[in-house]
Amino acid sequence: MSRDDQYWNRSVETMPRDGIEELQVRLLKSSLRRAARSGSYGERFQKIGFDPESVSSLEDFRRFPFTEKKHLRKGYPYGFLVEPKENLLRMHSSSGTTGQAVAVFYTKADLDGWADLLARCMYMAGARPEDTFQNLSGYGLFTGGLGFQYGAERLGMLTIPSGAGNSKRQIQIMRDFSTSVIHIIPSFLLLLMDVIKEMKLDPQKELSLRIAFVGAEPYSEEVRKRLEDFYGIKVYNSYGLSEMNGPGVAFECAYQNGMHIWEDAYIVEIIDPKTLEPVPDGQYGELVMTTLQREAMPILRFRTGDLTRIVPGECGCGRSHKRIDRIQGRTDDMFIIKGVNIFPMQVEQVLMNIPEVGNNYVIVLIKEHDIDNMIVRVEMTESVFVEDMGVLESVRNRIAHDLKNELLVTPKVELLEPNSLPKSEGKATRVIDRRMS
Ligand code: AMP
Ligand code: ZN
Repeated sequence: MSRDDQYWNRSVETMPRDGIEELQVRLLKSSLRRAARSGSYGERFQKIGFDPESVSSLEDFRRFPFTEKKHLRKGYPYGFLVEPKENLLRMHSSSGTTGQAVAVFYTKADLDGWADLLARCMYMAGARPEDTFQNLSGYGLFTGGLGFQYGAERLGMLTIPSGAGNSKRQIQIMRDFSTSVIHIIPSFLLLLMDVIKEMKLDPQKELSLRIAFVGAEPYSEEVRKRLEDFYGIKVYNSYGLSEMNGPGVAFECAYQNGMHIWEDAYIVEIIDPKTLEPVPDGQYGELVMTTLQREAMPILRFRTGDLTRIVPGECGCGRSHKRIDRIQGRTDDMFIIKGVNIFPMQVEQVLMNIPEVGNNYVIVLIKEHDIDNMIVRVEMTESVFVEDMGVLESVRNRIAHDLKNELLVTPKVELLEPNSLPKSEGKATRVIDRRMS
């Protein structure tokens, strides 16, 4: 390992492209052999007559069918497991908001590799052993807790496992221990803005924060800007999913222009979710991933459901691993209103560009006389809400107008008092679908 001031692992992070591809083919072969030992893949290999030994290039591998969430669910709990129980150290699980959760197992080598990837990510974004790291993330089955904990310890930071929730106490801990680096989901960091205002604190003078790793749910560039301006910090996007370990899959470097996705650990593909064909770099599609180093539970060509693209060109930081763009949403997030495909993130981008709009909103989908429509319910900032009806009406018109420009449909807009929408300290619910009821 070659640690220096810039890179956690210079030789891996700056590996030439042909070296990365050679390494991938080598690791893929052992992943395939390993996968063949699991009940679910073993059966599948047999059924389609797939011989892992026949793969000698990444192109060969593209003949292998995709793995979908439904397959992992069907294999619950042990169908994809390769190692005997005595070799396992831990289990995590996906959020499982819809349907059966997926269980993910780790051997010692898996946990080590995962911690190292997370340390690499955080080091890349500028965290150093001198920092104090506070992890405001749910521990337990959610991978964002223990995942970041072990990664931060590997990097060598003093690590405070403060967990999710307890807003005021979190701020108190930040003050008492001069926390400089945090990991948190975007909706909770937005919510803490109100708590800090309520506590009459100046976050830029009375806190020592300099970096936040923010991820686990989609958020827009506009939200990043709000957070950076309010806290006076750098916000780095962090992407991961339980099926691929958890966080540490892709992360932003100091250039904040796409997230480097670690290709020594994963094969990355972007496909058209309808035709399932690969799309060229720069074009949006669904992210498909394969683990290269996981022992307990290798996963092949997994359709993540996340929509992104490969950012074309090289990154100024010198890392050769490809970058994926901010996640635009999930294939299953999209809804159709009056024939137009809409992603919640498009609504957020518009709202967060309007200064009078507060930090909380929700999109309600309704059916009126058999036609689908949407209501955007949005909290205003304190200062606007005390204004007269004329001012509010002009803000409402502006929101409707800007949304129409972006979405091509005119939603109903309802302005709400600050703090009137339910607050959640976990992943936020941005869309409520009332069309069925
Ligand atoms: P889970 O495995 O339950 O932790 O959830 C993983 C999912 O969270 C991913 O498939 C994404 O849909 C979402 N996610 C994680 N990180 C991000 C991020 N930085 N931006 C947008 N969505 C994210
Ligand atoms: Zn970079």
